[in-house]
Amino acid sequence: PIEGDFYDISSRLNAEDRALQLKVRAFMEKEIQPIVNEYWLKAEFPFEIIAKFRELNICGVTYEGYGCPNRSFLMEGIIAMEMARIDASVATFFGVQSGLAMGSIYMLGSEAQKQEWLPGMQQLNIIGAFGLTEPEVGSGTAGGLTTTAKREGDTWVLNGQKKWIGNATFADVIIIWARDLDDNQVKGFLLRKDTPGFSVEKIHDKMALRIVQNGLITLKDCRIAESDRLQNASSFKDTAKVLRMTRAGVAWEAVGCARGAYENALAYTRSRKQFGKPIAAFQLIQGHLVEMLSNLTAMQTMVFRLSEIQDAGNLKDEHASLAKVFCTLRTRDVVSRAREVMGGNGILLEYNVARFVADAEAIYSYEGTKEINSLIVGRAITGFSAFV
Ligand code: FAD
Repeated sequence: PIEGDFYDISSRLNAEDRALQLKVRAFMEKEIQPIVNEYWLKAEFPFEIIAKFRELNICGVTYEGYGCPNRSFLMEGIIAMEMARIDASVATFFGVQSGLAMGSIYMLGSEAQKQEWLPGMQQLNIIGAFGLTEPEVGSGTAGGLTTTAKREGDTWVLNGQKKWIGNATFADVIIIWARDLDDNQVKGFLLRKDTPGFSVEKIHDKMALRIVQNGLITLKDCRIAESDRLQNASSFKDTAKVLRMTRAGVAWEAVGCARGAYENALAYTRSRKQFGKPIAAFQLIQGHLVEMLSNLTAMQTMVFRLSEIQDAGNLKDEHASLAKVFCTLRTRDVVSRAREVMGGNGILLEYNVARFVADAEAIYSYEGTKEINSLIVGRAITGFSAFV
């Protein structure tokens, strides 16, 4: 087993899944690692990787039909971890495409909508995005969306803004969540990029996940056909079904981020010498390394079990939220220790830990902050909702 998988979780995969894990790892190490710091610094997306991604055939990996591989949620988690182990931005791009955007259509679309979009998205010929958050409404999207949808005959008229939307600057289709002015419920819409009234501005100067192209979307009297409304989404409860699935994926991403930082830091402490010996030989350094490994191993065993629950069809919101909170919180600790044991080089991009330190901050906040996911768990274990 490789160093960051101390309890050899990979040994629980069947031969086919193990082969795919190694294929994704090789891809990330060969194609992404060499270019990632440059693109992160430029805050640009490496479009050339899309064609290479296609060859891996891992998009929509758990879905059945529409050209999707129909593999397990464990496999999906392992893929997210392997990606984030090298770069969390690339893992996020993929999570938006395969999880949030395709997942919304797969779980909430009509048969005709699935046929229209999923095969092209699976092949990454069509890029998707997921627009829920707004400039003034982040954690409170369940009851507070201000983007509105008004039905007029066979079309809907959408108005409002969406902030932070990953892939939005180049997406072909964006799932827009808006409040129906008639019944006050949240509905989902497939917004095509050429829709009049739609515009998007790139969000500049992020200190984390700089490769992810986040957009600020403005919708001004955008007219969307009723046939482009997600036919099986009738309230925020349906949106939450998608988030439940993708939050489990984010927990795995956090594991990957921690693992990448740990493995790089461990290697560094073995080769870096001070006082005539490798710094790995010092007790205080070993203390940090063991703390990192403990957190990493606890996270890995947690997400492994989470995927088993998911594969058995028993995943609840609180299961996904607990893992999202724990893993993103522990990842912050792991990456900061990784940076610490590397001294000054820990803040240089070329040593491949600084980027994880920054990116962990975004993973910590997106797909529901620590507080919001904690409140979801709190509600489940106490029976009291503390949201309002
Ligand atoms: P706020 O909701 O303003 O929260 C600020 C603070 O208040 C947080 O600490 C929060 O936990 C706390 N807080 C709020 N309510 C409570 C409460 N009831 N009790 C206790 N504390 C509370 N969104 C999308 O729709 N699509 C995307 O593709 C997407 N990608 C993203 C990518 C990145 C890099 C980032 C940073 C964000 C992305 N988001 C996306 C948005 C993300 O989901 C939100 O940032 C997140 O939900 C938090 O909302 P907020 O930033 O508005 O914070």
